[in-house]
Amino acid sequence: MAPLLRVRLEDARDYIRLFVNRRAYTLQSARPDPESGRHHYFRPRAKASGKDLSLTLDTVHRHLRGEITVGLYAINPATQRSKWVAIDADYNGAMEDLLKLQYHMGKDDVDAALEMSKRGGHLWIFMATPALARECRIYIYSMALKLGMRIRGIGLAEGIEVFPKHDELRPGEFGNAIRGPLGVHRGAGRRYWFYGADYEMERQIAFVKRLRKLSESQLRTFIAGKTMPPEFERRRNELADARHAGSSGREFRILQHVGKVRTVGRNYVTQCPSCAEAGRDRSGDNLAISIEDPRKYLCWAGCGKAMIRRAVGCPIPVRRMA
Ligand SMILES: [Zn+2]
Repeated sequence: MAPLLRVRLEDARDYIRLFVNRRAYTLQSARPDPESGRHHYFRPRAKASGKDLSLTLDTVHRHLRGEITVGLYAINPATQRSKWVAIDADYNGAMEDLLKLQYHMGKDDVDAALEMSKRGGHLWIFMATPALARECRIYIYSMALKLGMRIRGIGLAEGIEVFPKHDELRPGEFGNAIRGPLGVHRGAGRRYWFYGADYEMERQIAFVKRLRKLSESQLRTFIAGKTMPPEFERRRNELADARHAGSSGREFRILQHVGKVRTVGRNYVTQCPSCAEAGRDRSGDNLAISIEDPRKYLCWAGCGKAMIRRAVGCPIPVRRMA
């Protein structure tokens, strides 16, 4: 396991200013899941009260030191905005795609920082002030599609993934979290750094602080006349439906969260979102959904309901203790 680093509190403070959109967070388990071998992320709770924990300066400091590893949510639910966009790519040729995006963003005068990851990398862009998740997504999607890049989701097992993954969060939703940069990846047992600065915490934070930040007016110039590609409008429609349907629309429907389905016997078959998150199920047939009752679904590779719900950004609500 990576050694613990000495980290200044002011670096942790800067990190919060740069990366933290909301105080809810996830924690990467220190031990691998015995079945899947993966180090899952979960929402930590206080032992005594059962209440969800919130990120504190101390939590972030421990993350940077390497004692724990946190996942950060992309959207502040109060504003539907994010301080950053992160593009995750982990397939063959992922690095070329990320470098290509970085180059084309550079032509827009946008600084993008490339972070290494276990496979491929993450490309980060920072906002001068938090930007609407939807507008961030339109910018990246339209650039990626113009460059002929694949985007993961809708029927595609491989391609870039954009965080925030949602345009908006409904009340009580969290969306998807991404491993907080500069922490230790529990699965790999090591830390990944940003290219572009020495591999030391102070230098890395200073590097991110120095990056040119994208303003909302610049962003709006880039996306003027552009719309969300129709295949990524799904979540928005779902949101509108849920609002119209009232409380009945709140029931979880797996079909609203998966890509293209095929019919096999009595089931729909498609890629399992949880497997996909781990880079598995490239053939897109692990998840079976009952045609007769689409509330019933099963991953043949053994992902549990909780894992699948978490992977699509709709974790199973946990009843709080009084
Ligand atoms: Zn699965």
